[in-house]
Amino acid sequence: MLQAIYLYTMQKQSAPERSSIQEIIFAQKEPALRVIGEKIFLKERISPEDGVLLFEKSSLAYAGALANFVRERIHGDKTYFNRNFHIEPTNVCVFSCAFCSYSRLYAHREDGWELSIEQMMDIVRKYDGKPVTEVHIVGGVHPKLNLSFFMDLMKQIKAHRPDLHIKGYTAVELDYMFRKAKVSPLEGLTLLKEAGLDSLPGGGAEIFHPDIRSRICADKVDAEGWLEIHRTAHFLGMHSNATMLYGHIESPYHRIDHMERLRSLQDETNGFNTFIPLKFRNKENDMSYVRESSVVEDMKLYAIARLYMDNFPHLKAYWPMLGRQNAQLTLSFGVNDLDGTIDDSTKIYSMAGSEEQHPTLSTTQLVSLIRQAGREPVERDTLYKELRNYKGMDLAAMETDAYYN
Ligand code: SF4
Repeated sequence: MLQAIYLYTMQKQSAPERSSIQEIIFAQKEPALRVIGEKIFLKERISPEDGVLLFEKSSLAYAGALANFVRERIHGDKTYFNRNFHIEPTNVCVFSCAFCSYSRLYAHREDGWELSIEQMMDIVRKYDGKPVTEVHIVGGVHPKLNLSFFMDLMKQIKAHRPDLHIKGYTAVELDYMFRKAKVSPLEGLTLLKEAGLDSLPGGGAEIFHPDIRSRICADKVDAEGWLEIHRTAHFLGMHSNATMLYGHIESPYHRIDHMERLRSLQDETNGFNTFIPLKFRNKENDMSYVRESSVVEDMKLYAIARLYMDNFPHLKAYWPMLGRQNAQLTLSFGVNDLDGTIDDSTKIYSMAGSEEQHPTLSTTQLVSLIRQAGREPVERDTLYKELRNYKGMDLAAMETDAYYN
């Protein structure tokens, strides 16, 4: 009904009376794509069939224009980043995901690393007096690093620096940790929360559909297990993010199935902050024979994610994985968050062949990247509280101030 009224009004209006996005939608020759555009304009939810159709039939220009319209309707030009660093406790892992370039099996653990709590605290102490707001902790699933080890780590970090937000452990790590400790997700997450864990990152989701999951990461937690851990975290008042590993053997149907499961859980809990598509990289893993997606495919994926994930407030391009220039480009295709300063503290994507072999961006560099893309840089904390808007800041002055570099 709404659409019929909309179409009638559009036909009555002359071209100058229509907004540019209405013009783009009105000029769309493929009727089904025009209907999708009208739904987006009217803030109606698009269906799984619409999502698949966008992948199969839409031009990058059309999906991109709609996604940019949605992005600006929600956030205007604001583009978020934070000041963060990572700790990767180990890359030793009991699992052997075919796309992973990072992990080493326990039998070959001498080729990998395992950090003690003291070594991880040395990393935390390196940031004493520096204005970081978040530590992101993820790594391999080590058979000997258990729940009490990580509870100790949480307590020591919080004792040393109570203001630091701890975003830690993928649902894959948590599922293994809880099963080994013989506790439920509710019991395990309650213990970690009491020890200091503040929120969960979005990793380990990969592609939920069993036809793909069984081929790329058969042995780790399945879709239901992953979603249940996030549902429980949300129940406990913790926020989390969600990822999707795209651009390998999955089809548009599998991507939409993945997004649909997340969108449904978000309808139920409203606990997700950010959706983060992660590009498959093919260096030194068991899927090196699979070609990587092109930049056009990447941008279209981001655009469709923005259109489909209508209840996720934020869409993030993780620049260490995409490279800073392509991450900049995503800001015209629905993305409103670029992650953070990182400070060369993660190896996950550099080991998979990303252009960013030592991912580090200062606050000044991030602000400059965002401004070059015509957007408004805003520093946030993990939960998207705005800490500083850099719109009018003098970049030259920032370059000479150690606080921003
Ligand atoms: S993706 Fe994660 S769970 Fe899979 S092998 Fe790599 S580190 Fe282990």
